[in-house]
Amino acid sequence: MLIEEIVPSVFRVKVPLPNNPLRYTNSYIVKAEDECLIIDTGFNVDECYNTLALALDELRVEKPLFLSTHLHADHMGLAGRFSDSILMSSIEIECIEEMRRSSHDYWKKLVDFYVMNGFPKEEAGLLLRLHPGIKYTYWRDFKFKKLSDGDVITLGDVSLRCILTPGHTPGHICLYDEERKVLFSGDHVLFDITPNISWMPMLEDPLNEYLKSLEKLLSFNVKLVLPGHRGFGINLRERIEELKVHHEKRLKEALSALDHPKTAWEVAPSISWDIEEKNLSKLPVIQKWFIVGETIAHLEHLVRKGEVSKVEVRGRILYYC
Ligand SMILES: [Zn+2]
Repeated sequence: MLIEEIVPSVFRVKVPLPNNPLRYTNSYIVKAEDECLIIDTGFNVDECYNTLALALDELRVEKPLFLSTHLHADHMGLAGRFSDSILMSSIEIECIEEMRRSSHDYWKKLVDFYVMNGFPKEEAGLLLRLHPGIKYTYWRDFKFKKLSDGDVITLGDVSLRCILTPGHTPGHICLYDEERKVLFSGDHVLFDITPNISWMPMLEDPLNEYLKSLEKLLSFNVKLVLPGHRGFGINLRERIEELKVHHEKRLKEALSALDHPKTAWEVAPSISWDIEEKNLSKLPVIQKWFIVGETIAHLEHLVRKGEVSKVEVRGRILYYC
């Protein structure tokens, strides 16, 4: 089924992500009276374009507004093929502008930093060709429409409140439909998989931000959660508890791995990953990247809490306690 009506005026389209373990991005179409908002889109590739274009055609959508919950390519990569303007949080827009200013240099520096953390140096070049943030994004000269925490977007009789939820990215937002108690959670809360929390230059302790953003959602009365990937959820509180326990477990695993000074890559095998391949060296380069990023995020959180220290030795960052 190409289009599912989830609640009146809200449709979901599963936009396929070819060769990606996420499988698809949930693109939500909010169509109220003669106004329409598309929340998240998929990659800038033909498979995604064809699916979303067909859905918009079937729903007879004309000139929709596009909103991206965050800057990742699987959420905003495709928007530029449809529109020259997009709604995003002002923090996310600042990040995009910073990344554009430094362009190739941004990725080069980031990859160099991951190599200092043990990411295999010989695969750095491959990563620069394959990273979805490079390969599948499309940042045309958007007219960005800035959103801030608490802003309300109104379409016909539907009102969506922006909730700033940093962690997965610096300026990630969720959208809350108070009338119907529906939360569009982007990649902040997922149900069948756990959101990747990785170190980024603009987010020094992403796990701390993420955990605070999970707490923030507890004050909202939510009956249905519509996430950016996979299935919907009905029990937000329970899922938040599970996600907190999940990260506590990873923090403990990271801490107990430090019997001697190690890079993030050396700590990574001690963390339980939800993947079948236990030999991390055999993973595809992109998965290695996410694993190093997530391990750094946990180690940096332990550093901020004073439980772990770090030192740079001959171009390698070693964590120890
Ligand atoms: Zn995503």
